Amino acid sequence: MPDHDVVIVGAGPVGLLLGCLLLQEGVDAIVCERRADADTRSRAIGIHRPGLEALDAAGIGSAVRSEALRLDGGDVLSRGRVLASLDFAPERPVLILPQQRTDALLRGRLEELSAQALHVGHVVRGVRDEGDFARVAVDGGQGLREVTCHVAVIADGVHSGLRAQLGIPWRDRAGAGDYAMLDVHDDGVERRALLHCEQGGLVESFPLPRGRRRWVLRDARGENDLGTAAGFRQEIEQRTGIRPGIPDDAQPTAFRAAQRTAGAVVRGRVVLAGDAAHEISPIGGQGMNLGWADAVRLAADIVRGLPLGAVDLGRYGRRVRRSARTAQRRSAFYMSMGAPASGMPLRARELLIRTLGTAPLRGWAGGLITMRGL
Ligand SMILES: Cc1cc2nc3c(=O)[nH]c(=O)nc-3n(C[C@H](O)[C@H](O)[C@H](O)COP(=O)(O)OP(=O)(O)OC[C@H]3O[C@@H](n4cnc5c(N)ncnc54)[C@H](O)[C@@H]3O)c2cc1C
Repeated sequence: MPDHDVVIVGAGPVGLLLGCLLLQEGVDAIVCERRADADTRSRAIGIHRPGLEALDAAGIGSAVRSEALRLDGGDVLSRGRVLASLDFAPERPVLILPQQRTDALLRGRLEELSAQALHVGHVVRGVRDEGDFARVAVDGGQGLREVTCHVAVIADGVHSGLRAQLGIPWRDRAGAGDYAMLDVHDDGVERRALLHCEQGGLVESFPLPRGRRRWVLRDARGENDLGTAAGFRQEIEQRTGIRPGIPDDAQPTAFRAAQRTAGAVVRGRVVLAGDAAHEISPIGGQGMNLGWADAVRLAADIVRGLPLGAVDLGRYGRRVRRSARTAQRRSAFYMSMGAPASGMPLRARELLIRTLGTAPLRGWAGGLITMRGL
């Protein structure tokens, strides 16, 4: 008999959520996380309906709702004019909560379900499919230990070392760009996202809970000095005319948005999940939500299959690849709407955004933004 039903590698939002869903159903699952402390990086903020449904299933939906800010809608602007406005329907809400808080709520829930499930400071060095079971090599600081399980889930993030170790290719998909972002104090009371698709490139502005705001700027080929508060502030003003209250000591974070898909998601009893399986551009904000939606399906397949002694992982693999392709296509489109542009291309883009904002198409466009069908 294997030591555990399921071993999950990585306590990011996807590994944690999957752990909660499995433990709730009485599955013997453990989560190995290499970090000793929580990840405090500022990353995902947007939670869409599929993500919220997953959080509900894991038992923390109401805690997330009470901490998050609920967006009323969003406006797309260019050259000082509003091109399209969208209000989010109550049945397709968009919640805003910084990832550190979502992770903390998930971690708290996991620990509530089992005090023994989360193994922090445990680096997984290797995962192998052995046919009848999977073997996981765990380094908990006192030498390597082998743990066996029915299913091993690799949720170790976009730079997954284990995916590479298994020889699974990591394929580029359309959509890449450089950006800088900054979360700052803000007194505004508006609950709308503002997307400025400007000549010089995208400027996004999102209200955050607890009187804060996130700014995201497209970095047009490193021409702008976006690494300092002064340069970041100046660029926002130049592109949009807005003078944001950004303190001099604020430190913007640069990131490269890219899109990639794993060449295979399932290898026998070993599966990839979350960013290890697919990288979705943060522009559009869907990577974490997609990983959660995948985790809900994977948990259901595992819970169904374990008592029968045969977990069918093939369906999960096909579904992950299909939904990743859809999300990547959508994100590539959002990125192109915020690329630097001028002349005819800029005017054509403005016309397209206006058209998408007209009454007959608004509902359809809103569905895409809020992850309908994913
Ligand atoms: C700037 C930015 C903004 C974003 N905004 C959004 C958004 O608004 N909405 C959205 O849906 N998504 C967004 N995303 C994407 C989102 O952050 C990721 O999709 C999400 O974090 C992926 O979760 P994960 O659990 O798959 O991986 P990760 O969060 O990367 O977690 C992987 C975990 O595995 C651990 N690990 C790695 N290797 C090992 C090992 N060998 N052994 C043990 N543990 C290991 C790591 O320490 C880490 O804790 C954004 C991303 C960025 C960069």
